[in-house]
Amino acid sequence: MKSTKATSGTVLVIEDEADVLDLVRYHLEKAGFRVIVAHDGAAGLIKARDEKPDAIVLDLMLPGICGEDVCRELKGTDDTASIPVIMLTAKAQAEERVAGLELGADDYVAKPFSPRELVLRVEGVLRRLRTPAHSEKLSLGPFELDRGTFEVRLEGDKLDLTAIEFKLIAALMDRRGAPISRTDLLRDVWGYRNPIDSRTVDTHMRRLRAKLGSYADCLQTLRGEGYCFKTGEAAG
Ligand code: CA
Repeated sequence: MKSTKATSGTVLVIEDEADVLDLVRYHLEKAGFRVIVAHDGAAGLIKARDEKPDAIVLDLMLPGICGEDVCRELKGTDDTASIPVIMLTAKAQAEERVAGLELGADDYVAKPFSPRELVLRVEGVLRRLRTPAHSEKLSLGPFELDRGTFEVRLEGDKLDLTAIEFKLIAALMDRRGAPISRTDLLRDVWGYRNPIDSRTVDTHMRRLRAKLGSYADCLQTLRGEGYCFKTGEAAG
């Protein structure tokens, strides 16, 4: 079920091409979003910090500071790290999409894109952030998940996770001990109905594992099945 008015919020669009910017703004506003804009990366970073938008649509090809560097800066700054970023990329090659995700982008749309597709992606990242599908808190071994605050603590220390990484570990912790396929993760975490590129999952999983330090093995890869969350005691 979908309602265009169900997701309201502020979206910052960082794009230098006026016609693309107008198109994106028109469709986001039609879908019920408040839209603020920046025409280059430096202005975008300032607006992101000052206005704390709910989501950012970021073009990769920008004058001055390129989109990759803007994304890196957003994700590396406490104030803006949790804001979902959807990258607009003219480079359609899968490798470059994956490179965008490595920088911490939450999703991407390849140009030329349909405005409706972009709106769906924005709604998707916000829905994934806002919908607590299960009870708010879950403790498994040294892991504590809190959907109310979007925090995961490991031995009491808060993990520095992106929005997608939080959703990913939440989905895995919900299925603790049971495998979950890449296709299911793409559907449940990313909201893709017809998943094509499962490398997206592997890329994020690799980054998530790196953040778990000595507990990286709790995220297990099961050949031919997908992924599985196991703490020491759950693994028996
Ligand atoms: Ca551009």
